[in-house]
Amino acid sequence: MKTTMPLLLLSGVLAAVAGCQQAENTFTTMSTNTNLTPSTVQMTARTDEEWRKQLTPEQYRVLRQAGTERAFSPGYEEFKKQGVGTYVCGGCGVELFSSKEKFDSHCGWPSFYDPANAKNVIAREDHSLGSVRTEVICAQCGGHLGHVFKGEGFKTPTDLRYCINGVSLKFVPAEATATEKLKSSQP
Ligand code: FE
Repeated sequence: MKTTMPLLLLSGVLAAVAGCQQAENTFTTMSTNTNLTPSTVQMTARTDEEWRKQLTPEQYRVLRQAGTERAFSPGYEEFKKQGVGTYVCGGCGVELFSSKEKFDSHCGWPSFYDPANAKNVIAREDHSLGSVRTEVICAQCGGHLGHVFKGEGFKTPTDLRYCINGVSLKFVPAEATATEKLKSSQP
């Protein structure tokens, strides 16, 4: 199996994430990356001190220490209002998700049914909290994004729920991207 494949092939029983009550699910269909070496996580070259300077304390706690923001945070309320655009990594800026795959799961965290750019998202087993979950991290900087759950019955094309911390993301509206492209095309 190629080590560059972005997601882990996992099977196991997944428990509910805090605040999101759900049945246990067997998780067998994700593609895989079982070897999280520096060749697969292209660690953005920053020291811990530099991350602390760049990120807000809450971003540092979530992205660099695998924390979880509280449910129904102000960022989640913002997320629900955001329109067409792209969600990039709050740490390194690489494209992760887009408004096309966004949906409201009502669980209190930003939800997507697929990444916008799968090669930039890596999933791996997470044995914290006494259960087996699938953690999602940024492939470029290794920042913790959240978790992904399968088979919850959402009427989406994948029935996956990427449950992502709002502070791990930065929203780039489509109009901002269009303006940037226009500026860069001008002499
Ligand atoms: Fe990143």
